[in-house]
Parts: sequence; C-alpha cells; structure tokens
Amino acid sequence: MLKINPETKLPYNFIKGSVAQRTQKVRLLNKGVYNKICSCNAPLTKEVLEDAISNNLMDLTQYRKGIIKVKPKTIAELPVAGARAYAGADIDTDLNISCYTINVPFNKDGILTDLSAFMHELTHVHQELLEPKVITRDLAVFNQELNQKSLLNCVSVIQFFYKYLYKTKPLVPNGTDCHFPKTLAGIDWKFRTRHKKSEDKINILQFYRYKLNQEKLAYEEQIRYTKGVNEEIIEKAFNMIDKQLGLSKAQEFVENKLKKELKKARK
Ligand SMILES: [Zn+2]
Repeated sequence: MLKINPETKLPYNFIKGSVAQRTQKVRLLNKGVYNKICSCNAPLTKEVLEDAISNNLMDLTQYRKGIIKVKPKTIAELPVAGARAYAGADIDTDLNISCYTINVPFNKDGILTDLSAFMHELTHVHQELLEPKVITRDLAVFNQELNQKSLLNCVSVIQFFYKYLYKTKPLVPNGTDCHFPKTLAGIDWKFRTRHKKSEDKINILQFYRYKLNQEKLAYEEQIRYTKGVNEEIIEKAFNMIDKQLGLSKAQEFVENKLKKELKKARK
C-alpha cells in the first residue's frame, strides 16, 4: 500500500487554512524560490536549485532539507513526447513516498534550460506538500487501482495524465479546437466499466477535479515566471493555454459528473 513518509510532510501549522489560503502559500513558496534563484546570480545547476528550494522551505516553514529533489534530464528522457518537464512523488520499494522530484531538462553543462518549466513543476510539488488531504485521496485512488493491477497499469489514473492531460497538441489556428471532449469521453467509458462502486467513482472524480485545478495554477505560475511577462499578460496568456488544453472544459465535465454521482450517493 502506498503511503507518505511522515518526514515528507510539512508542519501542520504551515499547511492549515482554506483552499484560497493554501493557493496563496503555493505562490509565496514559488516566489521565495524564484527570488533566491535570481539573487544568487549563479548558473542554475541542480545544486543551486535544490538549495534555493530547501532554504526557502526552511525560511518559511522551518522545515528540513531534502524533501524536494531536482533531477536533470535530457529532452529525450522525458516520458511524453513534447513534454517540457514533469514532477511527482518518489516512491521507494516499500511503496513509501519519501521525497518529491522535479524532472527538468538541463544542458550538457548541467545548467537548467527552461526556468518557466521548472516553475511549473515546482508549483505541483508545493501544491502536493500543502495539500496532504489531496495526497491522501490520490493515494486512495492509486491503492484502489493497485488492488486490481500493477502500478503501471492504473488505467484511469495514469492514462488520464500521460495519454490525455499532458498530451501536447499543436496550436490550432482558430484556437477553438481542443482534444478534451473526445478523450474525456474515452475516460468516461473506461470509468464506467471499471469502477462500479459509487464511492470509487467519487474518489476518482475528485482526484481529476483537484488535478485540473492544480494544473491551472501551475500554468499560471509558469507564465508568471516566463521572461518578459508582466501582470497584464498573465491572464491573457493563461486563457490561451486553457483554451488550447481544454482545462476548464475538462473541469466542467468532471464537475457535472461529480454532482450527479454525489446526488446518487445521497439517495
Ligand atoms: Zn502540470
């Protein structure tokens, strides 16, 4: 069974608060790391990035080093064609989450090549650290699927990310097309055939809903820390990406399903 190592959690005092407050804390943590990176004036090596992340966590939460690691990758090593980076929980052989890793491209001299992609993934890791309840639910979803198949075959979870959500698609000329309606219909079919219990359905839908929310904030932060971007552009650029990836559309789809499922469960 997958579980989080207690040492991988942030102190409760820091993470408590409403969803909006936690979103603000994610932004605050990101900003702290970004400022540290900029003020050190050194090439962005793995060590510089990891130090900035740890020192920032210690400044803000008095937390120990080492819960977030940076793994340099080449573009070819990224799991999805076209992906710029990815992040996630590091699961050891005992199925413990012992740290989080940010996998981003570095050049041959060991220097980060895409700071905004790094900021996107850093957002995800900070989100995970601030939302232990979400991780617990993620784990429930994973564990439920683990009972049926191996981790790599967790169809509804893994496919949702690697096949659908993170699948890149070239910009369409009019910007109105999006691949979500079709792929979500696919997920929907799998979902209905694989998960029969209402409780499981609700868990998975809530999982999707949170992931979509997290993705929106990550893109917003990615744009915020892109060179040459000012506050006025952020919203415009975000709306464009949202349209292209269909995040809000997918969210609407998931919300509606969740509403129906919750209504059924209450009967
Ligand atoms: Zn993301």
